[in-house]
Amino acid sequence: MSTNSFLSRLICSHCETSFDHREMQTFCKTCNKPLLAIYDLEQAKSKLTRDTISSRNPDLWRYRELLPVLKEENIVSLGEGFTPLVPLIKLNQKVGINQVWVKDESQIATGSFKARGLTAAVSKAVELGIKRVAIPSAGNAAGALAAYAARAGMECFIFMPKDVPQINFLESKITGAQVTLLDGLISDCGKMVAQKKEEMGWFDISTLKEPYRIEGKKTMGLELAEQFNWSLPDVIIYPTGGGTGLIGMWKAFAELQELGWLSDYRPRMISVQSTGCDPITRAYNQGRQDSDFFEGAETIAAGLRVPKAFGDALILKALQESGGKALSVSDEEILICIKELAEAEGLFVCPEGAATWAALKHLKEQGEIAANDKVILFNTGAGLKYPEVISEEFKTK
Ligand SMILES: *Cc1c(COP(=O)(O)O)cnc(C)c1O
Ligand SMILES: [Zn+2]
Repeated sequence: MSTNSFLSRLICSHCETSFDHREMQTFCKTCNKPLLAIYDLEQAKSKLTRDTISSRNPDLWRYRELLPVLKEENIVSLGEGFTPLVPLIKLNQKVGINQVWVKDESQIATGSFKARGLTAAVSKAVELGIKRVAIPSAGNAAGALAAYAARAGMECFIFMPKDVPQINFLESKITGAQVTLLDGLISDCGKMVAQKKEEMGWFDISTLKEPYRIEGKKTMGLELAEQFNWSLPDVIIYPTGGGTGLIGMWKAFAELQELGWLSDYRPRMISVQSTGCDPITRAYNQGRQDSDFFEGAETIAAGLRVPKAFGDALILKALQESGGKALSVSDEEILICIKELAEAEGLFVCPEGAATWAALKHLKEQGEIAANDKVILFNTGAGLKYPEVISEEFKTK
């Protein structure tokens, strides 16, 4: 059965050259920049309604017309998506903001929002006949790819730095992926995949080096719009590593406006990173359009340990267009914030998620957020996936 996807082509995010979506594409080799999926929204406008979508199952494939998979039988799903908005009930008062919600991605398959991107990328890979996938990963992307590849019956090759959190290694092994631990950084893992992919016949699923993970992540923006009854909150605080989610949501809002389902009102997009690895914050503060490689990256928030995002220009553009900003918080603050959210709200968030709460406190203090602004914090994964971080912090307390 057709998904009735309105996917029409891919374009380079820089030079806007078109690429054919009926063949597997990677990125624009001329510009060395990501490709973006374009949909025929004029057509979609006359055929698709918000009510149709709202009547469907509560997972991200309810938006299938706005996703890249053309045939339903190619969808590889673990029921991911449509995560709850959990309101803060105590800490919001403490910080002096009336309405703050946590978009709680900890409740998703594989325990992090990486599942969104990988359900889309693996499904599209199935559709295009790909049998072997590879990924460099320092964490949750590995586990998510391994899970969807297992379900799809694909061979999966994972390259990780040897100091990767134990759970990400184990979750990849348990699903039968072939895992190689390297003495180096995620960037070295990326080089290894790039070097060997031709010879090994691997398709490289690295962030934004294939065009469909971002489409899966975009559903966070579609969900927010639907959950706010087709309007949008005022501020979105997002923990940025590769930035796929931030870019994806920004893309989703534009698509919904083109469909006539949203006004031109946009939230301010706020990027938060750890001071232990904050190339986007630095670039933003210098008013730059791209970022430098961050040397010596080190943070407990493994998802933020991305020294140079392939989509940096797109991240910075979304921050600027939205009137948002970028800021950094320390690992010490992150640890305090994990404890605060757990104690006050019963939310056991990942370090990346805790960084958004730390950022909100700074922003309120700086007068960047008003008491009546509607604020979204992204908890991008489960605290349960970080036993080393938690036991290190609390073993002596
Ligand atoms: C990967 C990851 C991030 C960063 O996501 P991007 O969309 O790549 O910026 C944040 N939090 C967690 C838990 C992650 O695994
Ligand atoms: Zn290009």
